[in-house]
Amino acid sequence: MSDYPYVTLTVLGSGTSVGVPSIGCSCDVCSSSDPRDNRLRASVWLNFAGKSVIIDTSPDFRAQSLRAGIRSLDAILFTHSHADHILGLPGLLRTFALRERTAPLSIYGPEGIKKVLQDLDSVIGKMPFPLAVVELAGGAEIACSEYRLEAIGTRHRVPSLGWALVEDDRPGRFDVEKARAAGVPDGPLNGQLQRGETITLDDGTVITPEGLVGETRFGRTIVLSGDTRPCDSLMARAVDCDLLIHEATFLDEELDRARDTHHSTAREAAELAAEARVRMLALTHLSMRSPPKLIKAEAEAIHENVVVPRDLDLIELPFRERGDAVLIKNGGRDED
Ligand SMILES: [Zn+2]
Ligand SMILES: [Zn+2]
Repeated sequence: MSDYPYVTLTVLGSGTSVGVPSIGCSCDVCSSSDPRDNRLRASVWLNFAGKSVIIDTSPDFRAQSLRAGIRSLDAILFTHSHADHILGLPGLLRTFALRERTAPLSIYGPEGIKKVLQDLDSVIGKMPFPLAVVELAGGAEIACSEYRLEAIGTRHRVPSLGWALVEDDRPGRFDVEKARAAGVPDGPLNGQLQRGETITLDDGTVITPEGLVGETRFGRTIVLSGDTRPCDSLMARAVDCDLLIHEATFLDEELDRARDTHHSTAREAAELAAEARVRMLALTHLSMRSPPKLIKAEAEAIHENVVVPRDLDLIELPFRERGDAVLIKNGGRDED
């Protein structure tokens, strides 16, 4: 069992920072915006149980990853192949090549991701480490120790996935004093009881876990929508989750545009979150025409715990029994 008590998520590209040069977006939703300030960047960095996983690599990814202090990486997940989610990959891979990485790296994404990465091949160049690219459909799972990553089929203009990080449930707390009083010697038998097994002591006494082990402690779940219309698959996976990171490209006054471009409004994201009883809703991928304050206000009219993170903000999720998710501005660093 991991003794690592936190899952953390750093927002590398939130859609809410200003003034960072970037390139135009292929999502066609920021055509009226200043291309030097395209706020549709979207990337997050997940840390859990000693693993480091990136979801999407926005064009400014390399600079953001340096600021965030990303040193190691176990996998990269893509939601889809639009430029504002993928163009940071060459810079990221070159950085690891310069650091003489040798460990294999796996990249997962929806149908079509292999072709997109092949097209970037001449930009990326030869890597000194094995690179595996795996296409997945909604419902697929990547198993890690104590966690799994689930691909969720979503509704965008190209093949797209949302992602869920789902922690295994943990057994309840074990009452060592009670076990001792029942004659159980300290040692591996305690572990067997905590896992729900019945044991037999040397003298033949049978001990069951009832009364010695507390309630199962439910694992944490983070769900990330990627670019999408609100959809049933996301709703189903988000039920009772600790944190839903949902795109909110538009205010509801631009609902028609959201439908046309296969994006969501803040109201729609909040309605999905409220129906799914999500504990915290983080809204990202805001268009230039959607001020963060208005996006937040629109969602807060429907869901009581809404955050609109800025770049490099960090969300920390303690074990459920230790409290709720917390947004830490700029990841606790001094503002720079
Ligand atoms: Zn897109
Ligand atoms: Zn996008």
